[in-house]
Amino acid sequence: MKAVLFEKIGSLKLGDVSRPDLETEKDALVRVTNTAICGTDLHILNGNIPVEENTILGHEAVGVVEKTGSDVKRVKIGDRVVLSCTVQCGQCTNCKKGLVALCKHGGIFGCGKQRGGFPGTQAEYIRVPFADMVLEPIPDDLTEEQVILVGDILSTGYMASENGSILPGDIVVIFGAGPVGLCTIATARLFGPSLIVSVDLLDYRLEAAKHLGADMIINSRKTDILEEIKRITDGRGADVTIEAVGSAETLNYCIESVRGGGNISIVGVFPPGMVEISMKKMLIRNIQIRMGLVNMVNMGRLMSRIKHRKLDLRPLMTHKMSLGEVRDAYRIFGSRSENVLKVVLHP
Ligand SMILES: [Zn+2]
Ligand SMILES: [Zn+2]
Repeated sequence: MKAVLFEKIGSLKLGDVSRPDLETEKDALVRVTNTAICGTDLHILNGNIPVEENTILGHEAVGVVEKTGSDVKRVKIGDRVVLSCTVQCGQCTNCKKGLVALCKHGGIFGCGKQRGGFPGTQAEYIRVPFADMVLEPIPDDLTEEQVILVGDILSTGYMASENGSILPGDIVVIFGAGPVGLCTIATARLFGPSLIVSVDLLDYRLEAAKHLGADMIINSRKTDILEEIKRITDGRGADVTIEAVGSAETLNYCIESVRGGGNISIVGVFPPGMVEISMKKMLIRNIQIRMGLVNMVNMGRLMSRIKHRKLDLRPLMTHKMSLGEVRDAYRIFGSRSENVLKVVLHP
C-alpha cells in the first residue's frame, strides 16, 4: 500500500509498504479515507521530534473499519470511524484514572519508537490497537469533514480551554491562531466567557479566528499586545491566557497579561531545551498554570456538540489534496502559504 514515509530531517516520500493486518484480538484494520497534516508532523520533519527512518507519518484520520479482532465490541466492519491520535488500552492504572494520555501500553500514531512505535495514518490502511478505546464511530448524519479534527486538534483545543478553567463572564486571551489555537477559540466559547481575544502575527489566521468565535483580534506585529490587553481589561489583566504557539516569547506574554489569581493554560508544543520565565512573578501573583498532552476522553462529547451545531470546524479545511501530492501538501502547510489552515489528504 502507499504510505507517507519519513526519510531524514527535512525529507519525506510516498513509498510502498506492506499492508498491515490484525495482530491481536483487540485490533481493527481501518481503510483510511481522509488524513490530515498536523503541526506535530512538521516538528518531526524538522527534527524536533526524532523518529526512525521509514516511519509512516500522521495521526489524524477518519476511515472505514475493514476487519475486527474477536474482542472488538464497539465498532464493526463497515462502520465509519474517527481515530484518536493517541493509543490507549483503557485498562492500565493510568487509563483507569482517566489519564489515557499516559497509558502504559499507549503512544501516538506516526511519532516513532519513543511514542510507542505505532505506524501513522498517512497511508491507505492502518492497524488500530485497542480499537474499542481508539476508534469513535461517526454518527450517520455527520460528514468526515465535520469530524476529522475530533481525533486530535479539536480535543487538544478543548483540553486547553478546560485547563484554563474558564468561567462564565471571563476574559480569555488566546495566543496563536494556528489550527490548535483556532480549535481552542471554538471550544473556549462553550464555557461562556464574555470576551475571547485572539492574538497572532498573520492577518489571514486572525480572520479565521473571527469566524470561529473570537470577539476581538490583535495582530502582535502591529500592536503593543500587553498595552492593548491592559486597555481591554481596564488594567486588570485577562482572567485566562492560553499559549497555543510553543514559544518562550508567547509564554511570557501569557504571564505578563494574566490577572493576579488568573489561569494560564499551555497547549503549544515547545522545542527541546529550557524556557526562561519568572517564577517570582507567578508566585507573588498567585497564578495557576496547567499543561499537557491531549487526554483523548472527549471524542463522543465533541461529536455530539458538532451534531447539535454547537461547533463547526469546517472553516479550517482549506486544502484537500491526494496522498500523491503529499510533498506539496507539507510544503504549503509548513510555509503557511495560500492562506492554509489545515490540509487533508485522501489516499
Ligand atoms: Zn496532531
Ligand atoms: Zn492504558
